Order: sequence, then structure tokens, then C-alpha cells
Amino acid sequence: MDFKFFNKKKQEDAPPLPERTSTDSEELFCYGFDASSMQGTPSAVVRPVTTDEVVQMVSFAHKQRKPIVPRGAGTGMTGGSVPLKDAVVLSLDSMNRILDVDEKNMVAVVEPGVINGHLQEKLEAKGLFYPPDPASMNFCTLGGNVAENAGGPRAIKYGVTRDYVLGLEVVLPDGRVMMTGGKTFKNVVGYDLTRLIVGSEGTLCVVTKIFLKILPLPGETVTLLCTYPALNDAALTVSKITASGIIPRVLEFMDKASVSAVEAYGRYGLPPDAEALLLIEVDGSKASVSEEVDRIASICASLNGRVSIAEDIFSRKRLWEARRAISPALYRIKPSKINEDIVVPRGRIPEMLQSLRDISEKFNVKIVNFGHAGDGNIHVNVMTDKNDKDEYERAGKSVKDIFEAVIRLEGSISGEHGIGLTKKQYIGMELSETGIEIMKAIKRAFDPYGIMNPGKIFPAT
Ligand SMILES: Cc1cc2nc3c(=O)[nH]c(=O)nc-3n(C[C@H](O)[C@H](O)[C@H](O)COP(=O)(O)OP(=O)(O)OC[C@H]3O[C@@H](n4cnc5c(N)ncnc54)[C@H](O)[C@@H]3O)c2cc1C
Repeated sequence: MDFKFFNKKKQEDAPPLPERTSTDSEELFCYGFDASSMQGTPSAVVRPVTTDEVVQMVSFAHKQRKPIVPRGAGTGMTGGSVPLKDAVVLSLDSMNRILDVDEKNMVAVVEPGVINGHLQEKLEAKGLFYPPDPASMNFCTLGGNVAENAGGPRAIKYGVTRDYVLGLEVVLPDGRVMMTGGKTFKNVVGYDLTRLIVGSEGTLCVVTKIFLKILPLPGETVTLLCTYPALNDAALTVSKITASGIIPRVLEFMDKASVSAVEAYGRYGLPPDAEALLLIEVDGSKASVSEEVDRIASICASLNGRVSIAEDIFSRKRLWEARRAISPALYRIKPSKINEDIVVPRGRIPEMLQSLRDISEKFNVKIVNFGHAGDGNIHVNVMTDKNDKDEYERAGKSVKDIFEAVIRLEGSISGEHGIGLTKKQYIGMELSETGIEIMKAIKRAFDPYGIMNPGKIFPAT
């Protein structure tokens, strides 16, 4: 290992964990980017396997005032794990043990590098359920989910990661270990640091252990596919279903362009002529599911939707594969597409979609939309190619208009991907100056030397 990455002046300044550290250029390259278009080069990559090793590394970085970037699987969409300023990447992917599934207390205890889908599989085999299901669940880590407060299609009924984190073990930027919360479902002792750390994008501390609430697996689940000849009818169906008192477990939306992209990518059998489609899922007891399916089908039909039910587990799986393929399919068409995960109050989705059509026309860029319509969270993909300089510039400019429309419609510029690097210049559009000042003060309280994932969330002042 090349020790030059730290300013080694004396022998005792030698960095810990040489056997876990790499400075190979290939490896540095691989750990320099995530799923955004941002890229950096770390000075080293360290892959600890225990909390104690995290402590050793963070304490050393603290002493050297060296920036550290915690990293899970690098599937983040906003550059959160992209290293700036020669930072050391602390990759938690080797801390990947499910430590306990405590059925008596309905709590799972995991290390941060556990892949979300691995926990889902293990729990389902025992008749248990962990609802947060980001579309990246087969490759993203639970540590990354905690840091981004990840959501997924089931958020409409079951909420997001934050709603399941009961407690955390974290390593603070000076190397101290802190425990927040624990196995209890209630806890009001002092400030709620657990909820503060969830969604903090690796800027406050390194998460080394996670206590998650788990649920019994619902008895019955039915999946419906509803196709529409007009986009607006699909949008109105979303509002009508949510106003009807039914809470589906999934209410996902795809426009025609996303359907075409997915079909070109993998031939999943989605109807190519539909202007929009909704993927709807309900769960619960057999009787309640059957009643809700009937009511949803009649709402869809009243708005010109054609409904089909996934008859077996294979057709259901196929539909989900199609849904999870949208993002990779769009990347294949335009590798530098800009993906924003805006969210608006559900009833304002039709207005938001109209604004997006107007913006697409104004900037002469194609915009493809899909996402978690049930909770108003639309993934807006401005299709562009970096090699077409003019198009890329127009696409970049359209983002501000998109966010302005979101704020006008009482929404938020990020529903689940966080701010990271790509959105930090826009946070002032949503947060007040006072709000930003308080957040910066919290950051200073945790990290006075600014070594923990610097340069993220807040625009440079
Ligand atoms: C195809 C695709 C689909 C996606 N779909 C969804 C979706 O439906 N919903 C959704 O919410 N997101 C989605 N995402 C985004 C991404 O998968 C999530 O943000 C995920 O939570 C990131 O996890 P990760 O392990 O890849 O974290 P990384 O990308 O490695 O890191 C993300 C952030 O977390 C921090 N971090 C990671 N581990 C730790 C730790 N142990 N302690 C402290 N900080 C840490 C990093 O510093 C960084 O700021 C999608 C991404 C892709 C590529």
C-alpha cells in the first residue's frame, strides 16, 4: 500500500488498517462515482469489517483532518458518495451481516453493508416483512438507505426508511461511538437523534449498526396493471383512488416514453400503444383485498383504463422487473440523463405533469416521467447526452424551471434521492435561510472540523 495518501510525517502517523486499504488506481477509479453523473478520485479506499476498525480509521482521519466519505453500494443518484478534495472513501460493503432477527420483539439488527433485498428475502422466508423497497433494492445497502432515507413503491402505505429505524450505532467524526434509540418502538428521551441521522447523507457520522422495525408478511397481495389511452386519465385515477379511502400498497406510474424504453430494453410484454400505465398493488386479508381490487378496477374503468390482474407470481415478478428496469433502460438511451425525484401533493400531479410538458417544449428537451404516483413522487428524467453540448446546456437549464414549478405546487425538490452534490445549489429554493443556518449549526456540532463527507448538501459560501 502507498502511504502517501496521508501526510505521514512520523512513524506513529502511519494510517491504521493497511490490509483493508487500497490505493490502486483501478480501485480508486471504481470508488470515485455513484449513479449520478458526478465523479471524483479518492486518495484511498478503506474497507473496514468491524465497528472498531471504523473507529480506528475515523479517529486517524480526525487527527489528520483528512476528509472521509462513507459509502455503501454507490447507487446514490445525487453524488453523495462521490469523494471530493482527495477524501478517503470508507466503504462499508464488507460489514454485511444480518446480526439478529428478533421475532419476539419484531426487530432486525443489521450491519450497514447488508443489501436491502437480502434482508427482504431472509425475512420473507420466516413470514416477516421489511417494507422499504427502493427500486435498487437488489444492490443498494441498508446503510445507504438510512443515510438517504430511501423510499420505494410501498411508501404510499408503509412509509419510508425513517419509519422503520428504531436505533443506530454510529461512529462520530472524532471516533467516539454513539448509540441512539434501540429495540423499543417508543422512546422520547431527549432529542430524536435517530431521526436526525436518518437522511443526513453521511455528513454527520458513519452508521455501523441499524435496528429495524419489522412487520408480519401480509396474507394476500394482488397486482393490477391498468393501461390508459390518455396520460391525464391515469393522473386523475391516482387522485380518485387515494381520495376513495383505499390505501394501495403500491401505486406506480409510467408514461408512454418509459414504457417504450423498458420494452426496447427487455421485452417485458407491456402494451406499447398505451399513453400511460399504472401498476397497482393491494395487500391484506383475502376479503379486504378482493373488495379493494373491485373498487380500484371500477375507478380505473370509469377513467378509460383497461385493467388486467397478474394471475400468478411469475407475471407479478415480470411486472416488477419491468418497473425496476426503467431507470437502467433510460440510461441506456441517454447515459447523461438528468434524473430529478420531485414530489408534489398527490392532488397536484396533473398540474405538475402539465408544467413538465410546458418545460419540455420551452427548452426543446425530451422529458420522461415515471414513479411513485401514489405519494406524489415523480421521477423526472430530462433526456440528454453530454456529447451534445447545446442539448446538455438546455437540459441543465430546465432543472431550475422544474423546481420552480414544484415549489409553486407546494412540493419538494427531493422525495428520496437527497441533495448530495447535484442539488445543493437549489436548496435555498425550498429551505429558509434560518433553516439552512440551523442545519449548518447541527453539522458543526457533530463535525467541527468538517471532515465527514464535506462539500455535500450545502452550497459553498
Ligand atoms: C436503478 C436505481 C433505482 C433507484 N431507486 C430508488 C428508489 O426507488 N428509491 C430511493 O429512495 N432511491 C433509489 N435509488 C437511489 C439509491 O439506490 C438509494 O439512495 C440508496 O439508498 C443508496 O444506497 P447505497 O448503498 O448505494 O449508498 P451510496 O450511494 O453508497 O451512498 C449514498 C449516501 O449514503 C451515505 N452512506 C452510505 N453508507 C453509509 C453509512 N454506513 N453511514 C453513513 N453514511 C452512509 C454516503 O456517504 C452517501 O451520501 C435508485 C438508484 C438506482 C441506481
